[in-house]
Amino acid sequence: MSARDGLGLVVLHVDGLGADSLEEALREGDMPFTKHLIEAEGYAVHRYRSGIPSTTPFAQAGILYGDNSEIPSFRWWDREQQVLVQFGPGSTFKRVAAKYFEGCRPLTQNGAAIAACYPAGAAETFGIAYQDRNYSGDERSRSAWSIVLSYFANPWNIADLVGHGAISIAHTANAYVSDILKGRRPATSYAVNDALEEIFVHHLTRHAVLKAMREGYPAIYAGFYAFDETGHAFGPDDPYALQILKHVDHTIKRVASARRGSYELVVLSDHGQIDTLPFSHVSDTPFGQLIAGWLPGYRVREMKGKAFGAGEEVAAGQVNITHSGGLAHLYFADRARRMRYSELKAQFPDLAANIAGIDGVGLVMARDDRADVFLADGRELGGEAVRSLLAQHDDADILLSQLSRLNSFERSGDLIAFGAFKEGKQINFENQLGGHGSFGGEQAHPFVLAKREWGLDTSGVNGAHELHPILTGLRDRLRQRG
Ligand SMILES: [Zn+2]
Repeated sequence: MSARDGLGLVVLHVDGLGADSLEEALREGDMPFTKHLIEAEGYAVHRYRSGIPSTTPFAQAGILYGDNSEIPSFRWWDREQQVLVQFGPGSTFKRVAAKYFEGCRPLTQNGAAIAACYPAGAAETFGIAYQDRNYSGDERSRSAWSIVLSYFANPWNIADLVGHGAISIAHTANAYVSDILKGRRPATSYAVNDALEEIFVHHLTRHAVLKAMREGYPAIYAGFYAFDETGHAFGPDDPYALQILKHVDHTIKRVASARRGSYELVVLSDHGQIDTLPFSHVSDTPFGQLIAGWLPGYRVREMKGKAFGAGEEVAAGQVNITHSGGLAHLYFADRARRMRYSELKAQFPDLAANIAGIDGVGLVMARDDRADVFLADGRELGGEAVRSLLAQHDDADILLSQLSRLNSFERSGDLIAFGAFKEGKQINFENQLGGHGSFGGEQAHPFVLAKREWGLDTSGVNGAHELHPILTGLRDRLRQRG
């Protein structure tokens, strides 16, 4: 990029780092370079609200395209096409993609989108795609992280996995991706694989960002997911998660030092994380099995989990449940349209109330034409009760409008369940010690780190899609400078 082209914009997406956690890390000295940006370069932490679901596909669609409607979760059931929509290797999003982003003007139009969920109009991805990590939640996976992180704690070992241009980024990325697609695990023993993969991809992504900057792409967006993954495995405040932040900080430093008067840098997160307890902590019976118990003759399938109730051949119908941390969507899968609450109640009079009565479920939401229906503690709630419940977690009006928006999506579940809070932690429908997807705590409170002089105002941003005009505005203003 030459001076007459103006300044380019690099956006680094640090997945799962909430605004409070960022500020804590800055105070504790875990992110010294980021602190330097604030103290010496006039950067400031701008808080915003991700909206609900507080998950990456929803937030990133909002940031990149300005439109995240009909993205109800990390993964969801598309009734029209009868497909489980998910990202990463074996992504099925492409099968429904035609329904999304029509007429949008992506943040990275003609730029580079690296390790993002979506192509976002980019001219280049460097072959690095977003991965669905599918953190397994078992002890072995946790110990794998410990091994890899202790390895990287030794500065002599950090001599950049991919660094110094020794390996062609395209070659490495292609080999890596094709290994994954063939179901092969690249280059390491199975035990340390997921964790090492994560660190490897982090370095690969950074390498691609630096390359994209050298090649002068006007807007560059890159996703870094290692913090979110360690958070899921150990909880967001665990020392291992903080150790990852040091790597993130180092990456920010490397990218910042490559600006050389041609680029400006923004660092942001898409959602935060909170400490969670797996659903098994409150119930010996799995969530899906409880629901199968109230739907005789039905088969209830936890997507990416087990199936309960009637066998596939004899079942009267199927219910699919998609989990995203403390959020669960429940779909009567054979139907082509979302069920109205009155319809559901006529057919299954006690189902919604029963689910709302499960220890571990804090709130259930359904929709009746244009009205939102809320249930908790086994019964329907009046308006005041809903507000006082929500007020425990955030501004009740804002939370209500965020929930109402999610509830307006045709691709949301017929019933939507949210994990209850126990011992200060949210019940998580996946087997994770840190989670997000729902509301409560900092999971829906991410940040944008930007120069104060740019005058970004995120105080009224109540959903990631509202960040899009702010960032594209900044991109366009920088382009006119230089
Ligand atoms: Zn996550």
